[in-house]
Amino acid sequence: MANGATPERPRILVLGRPGSGKGTQCARIAARFGIPHISTGDLFRATVARDTPLGRVVRAYMDAGDLVPDDLVLDVVADRLGPDGAALGFVLDGFPRSIPQAEQLADLLDPFALDLALDLVVPADVARLRLTTRLVCGDCGRSVGGGAIGACGDCGGSVEARADDDASTVARRLAVYDRTTAPLSDWLDRRELLIRIDGIGRPAEVAARIDAACDVLLVSGSEDLAS
Ligand code: ADP
Ligand code: ZN
Repeated sequence: MANGATPERPRILVLGRPGSGKGTQCARIAARFGIPHISTGDLFRATVARDTPLGRVVRAYMDAGDLVPDDLVLDVVADRLGPDGAALGFVLDGFPRSIPQAEQLADLLDPFALDLALDLVVPADVARLRLTTRLVCGDCGRSVGGGAIGACGDCGGSVEARADDDASTVARRLAVYDRTTAPLSDWLDRRELLIRIDGIGRPAEVAARIDAACDVLLVSGSEDLAS
C-alpha cells in the first residue's frame, strides 16, 4: 500500500448486509484500535428517539426499510466526525452505503485517505433469519440472537425486537442492500481497499477473521479513496 507508515488511528469502513453482524464487530474493532465507532443507524435511532420534526422524517424512512436521503446522512456524519474526525480515526458502521455516499465521504474528508474496508459477507437467507429472530437492547443496542428474553447482559436494559426487524421491512432492507450497497463493495474492491470476511459462525469466530484482516494495518499505510 501507499507509504509504509503504520496508522496510529486507522480509518476503517465496514460494509455488510443488514444482519451481517456489523454493529457487534464494529464495536470490537473500535475497542481494539481505540477509535470512535460511528454507526449511522445508531445516530438515526437517537434522532428518532428525540421525536423532533427531523426525527419524524427519519423515522418514516427507517420504518419503511428505505435509506435516509443522502443530504440528511451527510449532515449527521459530518456533525459526528467534527473538524478532527479523520485525525482521530474511525470505524464507520453503515456509512457509506452507496457509491454516491462514498464519493461524498471523500469530499467531506478531503484530503482523505482510507486504511481499510471490510465487507462482512453472509447470505441473504442467513441474514433474514438472524434479523427476524433477534432482540436488541433498547439502551445500548447489543443484539441477542435467537429471541432470548430477559435483561441485557451488558447494561441491564430491556431487550426488544427492533422496530424495523419485522418480516416485510427486513425484506425491503435486504433488497435495498443488494441494489444500492452491494455495488459499493465492488467499487471499493476495484480500488484495492476491500477485504471480504466470511460472516458465518459465532461472533468470536468472525472477530478472529477480522483481527487477522486488520493485521494488514500494522504493515501498511493509507490509500486515497478519491484516486
Ligand atoms: P441495518 O444495516 O441492519 O439495516 P442500521 O442500523 O445500519 O441497520 O441502519 C438502520 C436504518 O438506518 C437503515 O435501514 C436506514 O433507514 C438508515 N440508515 C443507516 N445508515 C444509512 C446510510 N448510510 N444511508 C441511508 N440510510 C441509512
Ligand atoms: Zn444493553
